[in-house]
Parts: sequence; C-alpha cells; structure tokens
Amino acid sequence: MNHKTDIKSFNKTELEELLSQRGLPKYRAAQIFQWLHVQGVRSFDEMTNLSKELRSSLQADFYIPFCTIERKLVSQKDDTVKYLFSLYDGNTVESVLMHYKYGYSICVSSQVGCKMGCKFCASTINGCVRNLSAGEILSQIHAAQNDMHIRISHVVLMGMGEPLDNFENVMRFLELVSDNAGINISARNISLSTCGIVPKIKELENKKLQITLSVSLHAPNDSIRSEMMPVNNKWGVEELLCACRSYVKATSRRISFEYAMISGVNDSATCAHDLGKKLQGMLAHVNLIPVNTVKENSFHKSDKAHIEAFIDILKKYGVNATVRRTLGSDINASCGQLRSAAMQEHPLQKEVSD
Ligand code: SAH
Repeated sequence: MNHKTDIKSFNKTELEELLSQRGLPKYRAAQIFQWLHVQGVRSFDEMTNLSKELRSSLQADFYIPFCTIERKLVSQKDDTVKYLFSLYDGNTVESVLMHYKYGYSICVSSQVGCKMGCKFCASTINGCVRNLSAGEILSQIHAAQNDMHIRISHVVLMGMGEPLDNFENVMRFLELVSDNAGINISARNISLSTCGIVPKIKELENKKLQITLSVSLHAPNDSIRSEMMPVNNKWGVEELLCACRSYVKATSRRISFEYAMISGVNDSATCAHDLGKKLQGMLAHVNLIPVNTVKENSFHKSDKAHIEAFIDILKKYGVNATVRRTLGSDINASCGQLRSAAMQEHPLQKEVSD
C-alpha cells in the first residue's frame, strides 16, 4: 500500500499552497504542474529544473501515479491500440487509443473493475476493486501519449468502471485534464458515459459542464433493461429519461444514448417504436453498437438488416441514430475483455487491504 500522497491529483492552487507551506515560491508550483501534466513524468528526478534537495523532499512525502504498460495490442485493421496498464498496487486497467481524422482520442477507465453488473459487459465480471484517483485517470493519457509520441485531443470516460460511482475523483479529473497549463483538452472534447445513476446525473447537471453526456440505455423499457442492467431496478427508464431531459434543458448539450444491439433481446421493431416514442423531441442522438460478444456471456450482435430497420423506425420519430464504427474488433477493444483474459492467464490483481 502506498501511504504517500498522490501529487498529480492536486490542482495548481493547491500545489501553490503546498509549496508555500514549505517556504517555496509560486513559480515552483507552475514548474511542477508542467512536469506532471504536460510532460507526464514518472519520477521527481526527471524534474531537472528543481534542486536536488527539493526533489528529494517532494519524493519523501508524495508519489506520482503512473501507468506501466503490461500489454499492448495494436489492431491490424486500423490504428487502434489497446493497453493493459498496471498501477502502483498491481491492479490493472484498460485504455484504448483511437486514431480519427481529427486526431487521437483515448477511452480511459475510472475504476478497477465495476460494480454495476451489466450482463453484457466484461468489466464487471469480478466486481469493483477500487476507484482510480484523478491522477491515475490522467496517467492513462500520459502513458499513451508518451508511448506513441503523440498529443491526444479527445477523451471518453467509457473504459472500465462507472464514472459517476467515482464522482469526486472524476470531477477532479475533468478539472485537471482541461487545465490550459496541463493536458488542456477542452470540455467539449470530453465525453462521460454512465449506466444511469440518476442522483449523480442531477449533480453533474448542477456543475453545468460543456462535456458530452452519454447514457447507456440499451433498452426502451424496464422489463428488458432490468434484465440486462441491475441499475435499472433502482432507477427505471422513465426516471432516467426524466433526468436526461432536465440535463439537456440545463446545459443545452445534446445527450448521446448508447444502445448495444443484441440479437433477439432489444433489437425488435417493437423496441424501436418504444424507443422512438420515448426519445421523440429530445435533443439526443442514439449510438447503436453491435454488441461485442464477451466470452463469459452468450449475447450476439444483431444483423445488418435488423440494425437498418431499427434506424428507419427511429427516424420516423425524428430521432437521429447512427451505428458506431467498431474500431479494434480484432484486439478485444471492448473494455474489460483484455483485463479479464489476462487475469485468467496470470492474476495480476491484488486486493486493496485498507
Ligand atoms: N459504466 C459506464 C461506462 C463504461 S462502459 C457506462 O455504463 O456507460 C462503456 C460503454 O460500453 C457502455 O455504453 C457500455 O454499456 C458498453 N458496453 C459494455 N460492454 C459492451 C459489449 N460487450 N458490447 C457493446 N457495448 C458494451
């Protein structure tokens, strides 16, 4: 267990306070912030414009979270790179780097595992081990940037974990990642995906951020959704959509609904009509994702004809829908699959004891 404090999770003001307590000037905070957030250094020794004394005094009290590459898979079909990173305690998380015309986008994890229990998802198979700190979420970006010698321009919080179940750290991450003295990715280039923790969507709404909210809906009604997603037993479809309407009203931001197309489960014409009626008139977009078959379950993706028919029905209600381009399908790019496979081969996972 690491008893030192994670220095990457402090914002600039807090770093300044911390250094002034040690009798050090403000500009030192700016230097340290730059090493941590722009360069993404892994040790205080790399901060070459600080004195040796300062570096070792920081080293005594703080640690810099970083991600070590355990596995790296590069898609042969596209430029997608999937990383399995290990953290200071041996736990592992996955990130996926995608190359688009507009630049690089990274899908990062917010928790080690997930406790939400969605039936189709590999991340949740062994439950949630722990939350990631803001610094650990940032470190996934740093590790990928430094490995590939690139700058990442877009972030999606769609990796392992439920971001709204790690609310404080994720909010801190959003503040730090968009800091113009740091990684400097603007809120408009950030998406956060949730399975639908309604009270936290409300809290997020109050923050009035310009990020894109994605909601993993996956079914138009409670009977299907509760079968697939246990969270629906707590907050049903109507309650969730009500929170979404309120979110759109408060932020004027379009919501993106994720809908994994699963053959024979949620892809019928009846489902499409049901969904169309419920989303009609909302500032929303539906992302249809042919479900990725996970070894541990028996869901199969809908065929092209079902997907096209589904889109056509939604259109009748004025609801926009597109099929998500599947990147990295040859490298288990759907989150949770690589960690799950690696854990079965040789368990890296350690329980956090305190
Ligand atoms: N917990 C958050 C974010 C992580 S999952 C959430 O639920 O939104 C990111 C997205 O991938 C979610 O929409 C999730 O439902 C979807 N997903 C998970 N497993 C999948 C699979 N096997 N096939 C297709 N999409 C999947």
